[in-house]
Amino acid sequence: MTTPPRLTSSRSPGEGLPPLAGGIDGPDALRPLLGVVLDALRAGAVARGGPLPPGGPELLTAAVAETVAPAIPDHGHGAEEALRSLVEALAYGAADPADPRCAAHLHTPPLALAAAADLAASALNPSLDSWDQAPAASALEAEVTRALATEVYPRAARPDALVTTGGTEANQLAVLLARERHGPVRIVCGTGTHHSVRRSAWLLGLPEPVTVPAPDGTTDLAALDDALTALHGSPALVTATAGTTDAGLVDPLPGIADLCERHGAELHIDAAYGGPLLFSPRHRHLLRGLDRAHSVTLDLHKLGWQPVAAGILAVRDGTRLAPLAHTADYLNPDDDTEAGLPDLLGRSLRTTRRPDILKIAVTLRALGRDGLADLVDRTCAAAQECADLIEKHPALELHRRPVLTTVLFRPRGASDATVARLRRRLLHDGRAVLGRAHADGRLWLKATLLNPHTTAHDLDTLIALVEGSSTR
Ligand SMILES: *Cc1c(COP(=O)(O)O)cnc(C)c1O
Repeated sequence: MTTPPRLTSSRSPGEGLPPLAGGIDGPDALRPLLGVVLDALRAGAVARGGPLPPGGPELLTAAVAETVAPAIPDHGHGAEEALRSLVEALAYGAADPADPRCAAHLHTPPLALAAAADLAASALNPSLDSWDQAPAASALEAEVTRALATEVYPRAARPDALVTTGGTEANQLAVLLARERHGPVRIVCGTGTHHSVRRSAWLLGLPEPVTVPAPDGTTDLAALDDALTALHGSPALVTATAGTTDAGLVDPLPGIADLCERHGAELHIDAAYGGPLLFSPRHRHLLRGLDRAHSVTLDLHKLGWQPVAAGILAVRDGTRLAPLAHTADYLNPDDDTEAGLPDLLGRSLRTTRRPDILKIAVTLRALGRDGLADLVDRTCAAAQECADLIEKHPALELHRRPVLTTVLFRPRGASDATVARLRRRLLHDGRAVLGRAHADGRLWLKATLLNPHTTAHDLDTLIALVEGSSTR
């Protein structure tokens, strides 16, 4: 017969139970576990020895299944074994953006300091749906989002910003806010617009967006003018992009803002990729016109070097966020709000919400504007250097000089099918993780450089790998 657990016993409280992460004793419980985690991260990375392990999905899937099965054992293996085996398996099987040969997507190598801050967020576990779950975290979020909003809108009276899970959620919120102001608004966007904008229209029951041609990769102003004219003044939301996902190009923001003003359309700028150029005196000019948008998407898990998730939606006028207000009696009853407890439900469509602001705040404080500018500038310089190397290489063709940190290139004379196969071969062999993008009717390899530690030697290696594989 088993005896039911009792809360009071002769044993010290909690003895034999898995320890908690918080409280006075949490750090001491975490310290040895972190040692295990860090050793497993290192062991996995050493065993991998490159940007991703060789073998492709079949081998990797089998290896993970073998490590984890059964995923729900009858009897636990204990914390050390579970952490060691699974963290090592995940590290071994990672496409690790800290490796300079892992450069396919806007998949950032997070800064160590930001990952360390995220540990504190997990240990304390504040939830940003009510003040009584997150007293300091909510205050920190309010301060830092205001500062970020002011960075985007230095001349606005009441800028504000919300923390999101990324560019997708920020774009959805922007479209939602426009719909709340104007009813069934028509989205007008360039062909290079992120797919999440089109999905937002679908999600919110809005008409299909009007797509404006982007012949050189950025929205064509004359075509946008025509598209807005054809709407005859019915409510429109133009979405422009500062850093296209495929090619890292920036739409002509001032020209688009002029057209929006002339036609009475709203403007949202998706700066998920390019936004952090704001911190760089050298590159900030590329974002001229950004503060003429009603709302701006930023994504600090791209050029901001944050672990996922770290999205931001900034609005020029904080009163625009009013439609998000919402009451749930157990979280923000009116009398609590009237008595001065901050009301957090209107800061998101989510309820339980991680304090993603902590790692962002730590990063801003640790590096400052000039530290972030240095990272942005180094990463942009790496892209220029990569383009130089490709231009000098007789067997390779560069699509165009990079604007942000994306470099499109291909082996000269190769067919699209050859380019696609080459990318898959590099992946399968565990030698490089490169992306792909169509431009000017052809398929290109895409190097999205986000690693500020990348050296000229790393770029040489990457290019030599492509060149070597293309002649095999
Ligand atoms: C990455 C990206 C998004 C989507 O952001 P997530 O963080 O992946 O949700 C939206 N727009 C642009 C331009 C992007 O590059």
